[in-house]
Amino acid sequence: MARRIADVPPYLFAELDRRKAAVVARGVDVIPLGIGDPDLPTPAPVVEALEVAARDPANHRYPDYEGSAAFRRAAAQYMTSRFGVDLNPAAPPDGEVLALIGAKEGLAHLVWAMVDPGDVVLCPDPGYPVYATHTRFCGGEPYLLPLLPERGFLPDLDAVPEQVARRAKILFLNYPNNPTGATADLVFWERALDFCRRHDILLAHDNAYAEIGYDGYRAPSVLQLPGARDVAVEFHSLSKPFNMTGWRVGFCCGNARAVAALGVVKNNTDSGVFGAVQQAAIVALGLDRRHLEERLEVYRRRRDLMVSALRSAGISAPSPRATIYLWCPVPEGETAAGFSGRLLEESGVFVTPGTGYGRHGEGFFRISLTCADARLEEAARRIGLLALG
Ligand SMILES: *Cc1c(COP(=O)(O)O)cnc(C)c1O
Repeated sequence: MARRIADVPPYLFAELDRRKAAVVARGVDVIPLGIGDPDLPTPAPVVEALEVAARDPANHRYPDYEGSAAFRRAAAQYMTSRFGVDLNPAAPPDGEVLALIGAKEGLAHLVWAMVDPGDVVLCPDPGYPVYATHTRFCGGEPYLLPLLPERGFLPDLDAVPEQVARRAKILFLNYPNNPTGATADLVFWERALDFCRRHDILLAHDNAYAEIGYDGYRAPSVLQLPGARDVAVEFHSLSKPFNMTGWRVGFCCGNARAVAALGVVKNNTDSGVFGAVQQAAIVALGLDRRHLEERLEVYRRRRDLMVSALRSAGISAPSPRATIYLWCPVPEGETAAGFSGRLLEESGVFVTPGTGYGRHGEGFFRISLTCADARLEEAARRIGLLALG
């Protein structure tokens, strides 16, 4: 086995799945609030488009590496109508849109496109594990940016030492944020762009939760800011907004040079997204907002239900205005792993310990709202029993 594999910590969710399976095998009724995997089905028009497209023999052959022209146009059209950002949907090297086999794939391969051994990559802590893991795979060094509650879980970019910034190739940011549920406004994004311009760093914004906002909140795109595409790329995923985690489709857009470099890694790795999935994704991107609003209403209800139940149990759960996660402090005197482990073993409630996302996740656990209301209520009841002892 290669050292890069031997050295990598076990993939958080794979490891937690094993623990959960062991408890389920004991006959415990486990309520899964761990992974952020929407429980509701994909919208019917998207499934129907796939059915039709799957019968078309043109889709049985290799797709275009960069995504079909129609998919790239639909992604560009979405960026225009949602954010007012006009992108060139042409193929590389000039194009600013590239189809991905899910955002995760693109985020991982972006590192391979940009990072040489010894380079630094700035990664949020806590954060989505893919950024730092692939940095290590490439022989790079993740430099962790603490996301602290007292700063609204936004990193302090001024605290990055000059000699670190000089060696950095990518700054990964993700707002609305997994796991903290925090959001960032355009003032923050302007500062992040400035930082990247000053140090010649690519800003990679993982905007996987762009469409998951509540109470009127609508997350921005960093590409809305003037000149952003000179230093930034943004990742979009159909997984969370359209309940399509199993489909594996997303896109990267923005800086043409970075998009083209990512395309080179992909040409030499995969052979693109199944054509029928792209056709279905075009339908999803063009869906009436009503489809989204209906789903958001479900999550909003679950959020409110869970937050109030947790607060009654003495856990000071914040009520996030975006994402499908609650990032909650563990009870006084407990660790993230200790409390999450006890919740699973003693109560059959499966949550993720904050430390699974990095050292600064200590003291927190994450609840995913991707579970039916009645099960969430039952989970809240059990958490209350355990927390109140
Ligand atoms: C879910 C998630 C993704 C993955 O999206 P896919 O398109 O399903 O690969 C990327 N980034 C973050 C922060 C996520 O939570």
